[in-house]
Amino acid sequence: MSINLTEKDIQTIIESVMKNVESAIGPAPPGHSEGNTNSVIPIKLKEITEKDSVSTACSTSKQQNRTPSPKVNASTNSNPVFNTGMETFGVFEKIELAIEAGYMAQLDYVKRFELKDRERIIQAIREGVMTEAKELARLVYEETGIGSYQDKIAKHELAALKTPGTEDLSTAAFSGDNGLTIVEQAPFGLIGAVTPVTNPTETIVNNVISMLAAGNSVVFNVHPSSKQSCARVITIINKAIQGAGGPANLVTMVKNPTLETMQKLIDSSMVKLLVGTGGPGLVKTLLKSGKKAIGAGAGNPPVIVDDTADIEHAAKSIIEGASFDNNLLCIAEKEVFVLDSAADDLIFHLLNNGAYMLDRHQLNEVMNFALVENKEQVAAGCSDDPKRKYHISKKWIGKDATQFLTELKAKPKGNVKLLICEVDADHPFVQLEQMMPILPIVRVRDLDEAIQQAVRAEHGNKHTAMMHSKNIDHLTKFARAIETTIFVKNASSLAGVGFGGEGHTTMTIAGPTGEGITSAKTFTRQRRCVLADGGFRIIG
Ligand code: NAD
Repeated sequence: MSINLTEKDIQTIIESVMKNVESAIGPAPPGHSEGNTNSVIPIKLKEITEKDSVSTACSTSKQQNRTPSPKVNASTNSNPVFNTGMETFGVFEKIELAIEAGYMAQLDYVKRFELKDRERIIQAIREGVMTEAKELARLVYEETGIGSYQDKIAKHELAALKTPGTEDLSTAAFSGDNGLTIVEQAPFGLIGAVTPVTNPTETIVNNVISMLAAGNSVVFNVHPSSKQSCARVITIINKAIQGAGGPANLVTMVKNPTLETMQKLIDSSMVKLLVGTGGPGLVKTLLKSGKKAIGAGAGNPPVIVDDTADIEHAAKSIIEGASFDNNLLCIAEKEVFVLDSAADDLIFHLLNNGAYMLDRHQLNEVMNFALVENKEQVAAGCSDDPKRKYHISKKWIGKDATQFLTELKAKPKGNVKLLICEVDADHPFVQLEQMMPILPIVRVRDLDEAIQQAVRAEHGNKHTAMMHSKNIDHLTKFARAIETTIFVKNASSLAGVGFGGEGHTTMTIAGPTGEGITSAKTFTRQRRCVLADGGFRIIG
């Protein structure tokens, strides 16, 4: 059910909220609003028209009956929307309202909710997403039309279960003759986050758990092609939060995201940190903002196979990583450099494990329909090499191998997961971040050539690389040369994000800005608290 709010309704809500917020958390710090230092809640009434509506729905989450911690009382929750029953579950018509609601929610969250409350809220989010993982996968698959439904279920489960919570936070202490100093990990406040179409809802789940664990709230400007599924996951998350006694609107988004709404997010003084997961254009835009930005950009991960590797295992791993979600993942194997002495063996095992070799004619055909000539010489989804002549046709990104085969009128026997082709190192399928289930294979003379070509194809993104080898010196040589955030040895790329490998997961690999595999601590400010003059020391 949805209702339209008039300006009068909104005014009533705001007045009630102002009373509640002042009584619950005291006045907001000076200068927190844009040009409005008198009002606790900087909502600009003149911008709210009758067209602005909020959805209402009963919070039916089974987690509703959880017992809030003593400090938290859901019935006196100071969040505007929660209090009045006008529940948006975080999805707002206007970016200004999404920002303001998220900002207010964080003040409440950090003031009244303890670490154990955060953990209870995160647990509820994990459960909510796990319950809806199949439905979310279906929605994303249907809305975006890319990737694989089954693999999207796995991605949701991975984000829900393997993103660390508050256990990721730690306090450092220095004790000496002069007393005790502690350094704590404090929240930034409201975070503005931008998400990609390739992992839309999964990135939200992963970002939300990390950001909320650190005490932040977050407002999303999602990729427009995924806005309905993202609205669904934001609703699920907010229901889970409220069901666990948490504040409404800790996680918000604008219903119809555009570059203009993103600019408003960037410009808002209420947004203290920007986090972008996407291509190079997005990362550049955020880095130009003048505020702290964490950028997770494009990759084009190479994989090297040398002649000491277990070739059959290498082939199976490569198929697993490169075909997962039709190669949409930024970490996925995008091109192979194989020593000539091992190439035939590798191709044999690839073909035995679900790959289909494109012949010259078929390769040309695929290039004709899946590549578009890059007239403006501008990057689209990968690095900014002005010499590039093509970009990938959006129509073919993330499509099934079988769809390519149908277009080619090829009828292979068995289930084909991945198309492979033999090309030289300059081929556009090697140099472009293609995000299609097509894996180019380049034969090289020796390890040095493999490393040189792999580093070149990675374009300095310093994102992810894989190698299959039993020679430690070879592995070390490549890892040192390519300097990627993730380096996977003798396994599929998926192991690099905790899928079949140790370590926690992330959907936001912040290579360009250096944070790497993001988690709760990434979204914190270090704050030092000093007790001097030998105070608090038990050593005399
Ligand atoms: P994209 O760059 O087209 O879009 C990402 C987000 O940025 C979207 O919300 C989009 O609306 C916005 N955007 C796009 N161009 C922009 C610009 N010039 N200024 C401001 N905002 C802009 O990327 P995509 O197609 O959604 O996702 C695929 C890309 O994301 C690939 O390059 C992939 O490698 C990368 N990616 C990286 C990571 C990582 O963790 N490093 C994770 C997932 C995806």
